Amino acid sequence: MSNLRLGVMGGTFDPIHFGHLVAAEAVAKAYELDSVIFVPTGKPWQKQTDTSAKHRLAMTKLAISYFPDFRVSSIDIVRAGDTFTVDTLRDLHQEYPGAQFFFITGADSLAGINTWKDSDKLWDLAHFVGVSRPGHRLEVPNSPHGAVTLLEIPALAVSSSEIRAKVISGESLEGLVPAKVLDYIHENNLYQGNQ
Ligand code: NAP
Repeated sequence: MSNLRLGVMGGTFDPIHFGHLVAAEAVAKAYELDSVIFVPTGKPWQKQTDTSAKHRLAMTKLAISYFPDFRVSSIDIVRAGDTFTVDTLRDLHQEYPGAQFFFITGADSLAGINTWKDSDKLWDLAHFVGVSRPGHRLEVPNSPHGAVTLLEIPALAVSSSEIRAKVISGESLEGLVPAKVLDYIHENNLYQGNQ
């Protein structure tokens, strides 16, 4: 058993960018987390991804290599079937018995948590943190008092969809993604409309 306080950064990361990394750092500081585990989704239940899980996982590993307190887990990719957060959190509780979890994701996504599988079971598995750019409001009806918080992250002005559009139009990604991720995108010809 441990007293670890662990962030679980859930997202498609298609691709991962500085907004995600700054958000994870901000939540880690605000909640005094020992570590943040980035968990790229395998097969997102409610959407299509541009890029294979293999590439999204590889880019996430490269991005977090700059941060000693961040880790990456492939649990949502190796588990068969659609990705459900209830499975992510149950698996992590098994892997880290006694740890306290803080599930971090975009506030837009978290607003739909009531539609997620076994949503009523989620509140016992983690505290939920929705990260957003300033000015966003987060309302999660039917969530227990204090179960969900919103944290404003100015760096989240950057988005994965904007980055994908910039690749297609040949614009620079300088300052939006870590250098190793930039190299990976170019070496693998990602986001050219040919995946
Ligand atoms: P997504 O489509 O990748 O992202 C939706 C929005 O949230 C985008 O604006 C995105 O910005 C932002 N975002 C996503 N992850 C973020 C993060 N970690 N930090 C900051 N911003 C983030 O995400 P999604 O498919 O909704 O999934 C988000 C998480 O919720 C995943 O862990 C997923 O498994 C979980 N989820 C679970 C269920 C379920 O259990 N049934 C259903 C839906 C989602 P960027 O595009 O810039 O990243």
